[in-house]
Amino acid sequence: MPFRPEYEAPPTAGMPLGLADFGGPDPAPLTALAAVWLGVEEVQLECSGTAALTVALTALAEDAPTRREVAIPAFTCPLVPLAIRRAGLVPRLVDLTPGHFDMDPQRLTDACGPATLAVVPTHLGGRVADVAAANAIAHRVGAVTIEDAAQALGARCEGGFAGTRGDVGFYSLAAGKGLSIFEGGLLVSRDETWHPRFRRAATRISRWHPGWELRRSLELAAYALLYRPHGLGWAYGRPLRRALRRGDLLGAAGEHFAADFPLHPVGRWRRAVGARAFHRLPAFIEATSRQARSRLPRLALIPGVHVFADEGGTWPYLMLRLPDQATRDAVLKRLWPSRHGVSRMFVHALPDYRYLGIMPGGEDVPHARDFAARTLTITNSPWLDDAAFEHVCAVIEAVIASR
Ligand SMILES: *Cc1c(COP(=O)(O)O)cnc(C)c1O
Repeated sequence: MPFRPEYEAPPTAGMPLGLADFGGPDPAPLTALAAVWLGVEEVQLECSGTAALTVALTALAEDAPTRREVAIPAFTCPLVPLAIRRAGLVPRLVDLTPGHFDMDPQRLTDACGPATLAVVPTHLGGRVADVAAANAIAHRVGAVTIEDAAQALGARCEGGFAGTRGDVGFYSLAAGKGLSIFEGGLLVSRDETWHPRFRRAATRISRWHPGWELRRSLELAAYALLYRPHGLGWAYGRPLRRALRRGDLLGAAGEHFAADFPLHPVGRWRRAVGARAFHRLPAFIEATSRQARSRLPRLALIPGVHVFADEGGTWPYLMLRLPDQATRDAVLKRLWPSRHGVSRMFVHALPDYRYLGIMPGGEDVPHARDFAARTLTITNSPWLDDAAFEHVCAVIEAVIASR
């Protein structure tokens, strides 16, 4: 029997903004609040996570003109290779550990050499990657690590915050990614001598752009207004279902990315909105972690389903691996267009995005393709209530039982 929840659940648990975030006395700067919380010397704000990565790579490449390659997992956000190219560098794809989202250490070792500028260990969906292993492999060849913590602001790993365990780290403040100013990124680094270099690189490659800032400000206001139970069906659900009806999977997942993404400083008003909302983030992470942990045992009852979990991560969504692609696709056919916040993390492994073209290493990434084919995500938004979550579990159970 079809079960139609009262609300559209967003695909990830973004922290809603409130009216009070939009005005009032000037708060402490967002970057200062983030630095104190993360326990780092300095945080740099950029206009997206992608921009933060581009700035870091631009600065690092200046000092190492013979190192032109950046090693990344073959399954990650397609914006990552676009940022690498924007910095004038070459993305080298590294296959995954079988059944996991992290890079295979042996494959990473093989991919690294004198041409490697950086290695990008990547935390996905709040689940943490093995940064210590990436550090060891990168440092052996004289490269640095840049932790992609775009989806993991507030996650803990290896005795600290994810994003601060490598040489450099960045976080995304995009819509739906925890704390959001609609588009934004935070950049951190272990070595304080890099801070002025990152600032100089940002000044050089980005330019104040009133048009973009106005657009982002309006988008942020609309996001705050519509990112609530009754707004999401209209703002998120309708275009999602339209894209799925057309068979436009990249549109459904919001992955039609362009190489000429904007690079501009974030305006004062959006910075203040983020700063006012910032103090609610720890409690929001706490509450969503509690919900996720309470739901893991139910998922563990479904035979053949693997749920990714760890101790200290955050929980924007629950990441599931199914027995095979046909089962995963059958589940998605029923649940992606429904209002339950079930989705795909990224549609393809990187070599299968036509707009990315050819990348070295891309010819041999079977585990990344397998991971893309067998995984799905269930939102951990508080708006997916227990009855709706139970429906999701029952559908997965029924599809698996019927095969
Ligand atoms: C979203 C995302 C990015 C890019 O961040 P933006 O703020 O959207 O530019 C990079 N890496 C991963 C893993 C992401 O999920």
